[in-house]
Amino acid sequence: MAKSRSGQVKQSSKLLNVRYDVRGPILEEAQRMEAAGHRIMRLNIGNPAPFGFEAPDAILKDMVSHLPHAQGYSDSQGIYSARTAVSQYYQSRGVMGIDVEDVFIGNGVSEMISMVLQALVDDGDEVLIPSPDYPLWTGATTLSGGRAVHYRCVEEEGWAPDLEELESKVTDRTKAIVIINPNNPTGAVYSRQVLSGIVEIARKHNLVLMSDEIYEKILYDGARHINVAGLSDDVVTLTFSGLSKAYRVAGFRSGWVAISGPKHRATDFIEGLTLLSNMRMCANVPGQHAIQTALGGYQSINDLLLPQGRLLEQRNTAQRLLSEIPGITLQPAHGALYLFPRLDPEVYRIEDDERFVIELLRAQKILVSHGRAFNWPDTDHFRLVTLPSVRDLEEAIGRIADFLEEYRER
Ligand code: PLP
Repeated sequence: MAKSRSGQVKQSSKLLNVRYDVRGPILEEAQRMEAAGHRIMRLNIGNPAPFGFEAPDAILKDMVSHLPHAQGYSDSQGIYSARTAVSQYYQSRGVMGIDVEDVFIGNGVSEMISMVLQALVDDGDEVLIPSPDYPLWTGATTLSGGRAVHYRCVEEEGWAPDLEELESKVTDRTKAIVIINPNNPTGAVYSRQVLSGIVEIARKHNLVLMSDEIYEKILYDGARHINVAGLSDDVVTLTFSGLSKAYRVAGFRSGWVAISGPKHRATDFIEGLTLLSNMRMCANVPGQHAIQTALGGYQSINDLLLPQGRLLEQRNTAQRLLSEIPGITLQPAHGALYLFPRLDPEVYRIEDDERFVIELLRAQKILVSHGRAFNWPDTDHFRLVTLPSVRDLEEAIGRIADFLEEYRER
């Protein structure tokens, strides 16, 4: 496939089934419209900084003061102070057994997701991934030669995974179970009971558990986040998190994976991960210097989640206004930065949800993401971010309501 007779430079066939539709044709259309002078309200990407969510001062100061000493490569697994901070952070949360050498720092969680899957998955191996998901998990599994097998989360049950269905999808090719908690796109925060059920399945079938917890500090309605790694010491568990969301520095590209459980059973995999980590030299060093201050300091994200805090007010406003639109139902988001409303198929006959969001974009200059971009099988959902100000959310959801009114009457 590498050489084409027509002289075209073709992409590799490895990419044939790899998808990442949250930044696909819809974004290109929005960019075209912006270039033509339209003002687009972007409710599509969970990037706090452009919405006026600034990083805590201490993080910025610390990074700037370290800049002169961050010119060279670091240890490829990450600087010692950052790995120590991550290890101590999990200890303080009741997760034991994560030592400095069990932490790998990456250019965001994204890099660590790709690297871990490359290190773990053989051609044809299966990885159990929630539907809906954050689509990098599916894309990176496919790119690593594996097969993403989706287990359904149940909307009417607050988007909790159906554990029976999950277990029924385990085969002798299954390598790992992925959970995203708090969840993007649904906002679900999993209970101890659900998490224990997943641990039990992983234990029974000898699977690796991978938990993406990048939103663990963004919680509403008194929800409590439980680190699944703290629920067992006999399941190899990889916990992913980073600074992009709660610390509002997505551009610093700073994240990590921490390995816990019976590591003696994972030495070969860890060797592979170390090889890949060495091959990319190291993560962005200035970004690594932000980790210790972020984890150790005062957690300013909490202020944004208080009753008068910006994030909570925005989530409340968006949730209320969307629920008032005829034919929309919505599970409350107890965590993260998104809402994932359902459009009743009896009211809105949507054959192609990607077309639907492009039509919304063209008609109302509002950019959201279609549900199938998150590996949701039906055409009845879309996702919007709750990062814009209350005023902007009111305006955007008002325009969505106008669009839907016309859509209903077609
Ligand atoms: N995991 C989830 C669930 C996300 O929503 C995102 C970004 O939106 C990421 C990982 C990627 O984070 P990072 O910026 O650390 O690469």
